[in-house]
Amino acid sequence: MQRTAAVIGSGFGGLALAIRLQTAGIQTTIYEAREKPGGRAYVFEDEGFTFDAGPTVVTDPSCLEELFTLSGRDIKDYVDLMPVSPFYRLMWEDGTFFDYSNDDEALLKQIAALNPDDVEGYRRFMEFSEAVFREGYQKLGHEAFLDFRSMLEAAPSLLRYQAFRSVFSIVSRYIADPRLREAFSFHTLLVGGNPFNTSSIYALIHALEKLWGVWFPKGGTHALVQGMLKLFQDLGGEYHGATPVKALEASAGHIIGVTLPDGSTRRFDAVVSNGDVVHTYKDLLGHHPRGRKMAATMQRKSFSPSLFVIYFGLKRQHPAIPHHSILFGPRYRELLKDIYSHGTLADDFSLYLHHPTASDPDLAPEGCSGFYVLSPVPHLGKFPADWNAIAPIYADRILSYLEERLIPGLKEDLVTMRTFTPANFRTELNAHLGSAFSLEPLLWQSAYFRTHNRDDVLKNLYFVGAGTHPGAGIPGVVGSAKATARLMLKDFGVEDPAGWPSNGGPLLETAL
Ligand SMILES: Cc1cc2nc3c(=O)[nH]c(=O)nc-3n(C[C@H](O)[C@H](O)[C@H](O)COP(=O)(O)OP(=O)(O)OC[C@H]3O[C@@H](n4cnc5c(N)ncnc54)[C@H](O)[C@@H]3O)c2cc1C
Repeated sequence: MQRTAAVIGSGFGGLALAIRLQTAGIQTTIYEAREKPGGRAYVFEDEGFTFDAGPTVVTDPSCLEELFTLSGRDIKDYVDLMPVSPFYRLMWEDGTFFDYSNDDEALLKQIAALNPDDVEGYRRFMEFSEAVFREGYQKLGHEAFLDFRSMLEAAPSLLRYQAFRSVFSIVSRYIADPRLREAFSFHTLLVGGNPFNTSSIYALIHALEKLWGVWFPKGGTHALVQGMLKLFQDLGGEYHGATPVKALEASAGHIIGVTLPDGSTRRFDAVVSNGDVVHTYKDLLGHHPRGRKMAATMQRKSFSPSLFVIYFGLKRQHPAIPHHSILFGPRYRELLKDIYSHGTLADDFSLYLHHPTASDPDLAPEGCSGFYVLSPVPHLGKFPADWNAIAPIYADRILSYLEERLIPGLKEDLVTMRTFTPANFRTELNAHLGSAFSLEPLLWQSAYFRTHNRDDVLKNLYFVGAGTHPGAGIPGVVGSAKATARLMLKDFGVEDPAGWPSNGGPLLETAL
């Protein structure tokens, strides 16, 4: 008889896992609570503008390509990934800017202009980053750390790369200029980590981007989500949108099925949650001792901050603004302390600005431009504010700052705008404390110490996504899908199709 699995949630992790299971012949059903798929990669459509809600910097396209090649398909028939250059423009308030890309010559020239001594330091930092990338991403990024022994096996590598030190401290060992220290350490923020506390292992993001580039799907990130969903359905998978799972049914140490909004229960051989880990244990399994125990354990952990995002469309185009910009504010370490430790909403900000129409003008009406600007803010556990009241004021401050610094006439040109606050993360995504990235990527919350890809007690309950190993970000959650799928197929006694090759496919060979 054909085995069956349910995946709760259609984030990148849920979709990637569902594709792998369906490819391997497990009849898979996805239940997604929201109207549209994608989770954090949702999409808003306002007045002819298309706004990707979340992820916009697509790295490691080979991990996505692999999902298609597994079943002999070609990713190019589903989505068109376009390289983005520069990867980011980093800007400081003193007017300095730095275009970050994989063009080594241009990169070294810019480093030399800021501090000639840092050119050699950068080379050594790059060697470090490449080494951790091979060890931390290529070797350990798709493993499920289910027992402490697996952690001990990884310990020598962790020690070799001084995983107990922070990314910022490693960068500072090689690089002296304060702006360059920010330029080579801010990446952890993209996965919810404070560069001053996140393990040096995360320095691998720099090598990952340099090796495989930064990409953007034609039609926006949501076009990639739609391409993955189509692949899943082409393979025979079943998708139910606007269907929040209400509970997990358990009996005799096993999950037997899921309770649907109409109160009915559908039975499955295995159930995977791509939803928030606290939501899963507390809300879906709170009636079971295992759910209550794990919910209490999880709630003691440290969660990543939240984000305040403004999506806005302008009636004018801005060809001089690149696709991705980081606007560093006057403070770095102290601002991060306000967000991660003090739980205060600071008067200053450091912002990420997304300008998708720089790569794909079709995402806005003719002659117009679309943007989103994102400000990291404390999560609701540290800053339990009434965001409905704060949002308009905070949005206005951010837009004024942007108008002054980068986009003259912004407010006058505004056609449409909407915000997404920590409160929305909580209500729309069931995110514990409104965290944007789930568990904070701290060393003692990584690998074995993160949510296990399979529950230790309920042996047919699995997890995938940002709260599991290796963590947040598209490559992270797609890697977690690989780890969970391997585990599930082993548990089902099913062979991995095509051996499931490691990273690096034809797309990269032709594109780079
Ligand atoms: C604003 C923002 C910008 C980001 N930028 C980047 C970037 O540029 N690059 C990058 O790599 N990463 C980025 N990230 C991180 C990345 O988006 C996430 O780590 C990743 O998309 C999370 O995927 P996931 O698989 O964990 O699922 P999620 O996206 O968290 O989706 C989980 C899904 O489960 C559903 N769900 C929850 N409960 C239930 C239930 N009871 N029943 C049914 N469904 C349920 C939710 O509705 C949701 O659709 C960004 C994140 C944010 C918020």
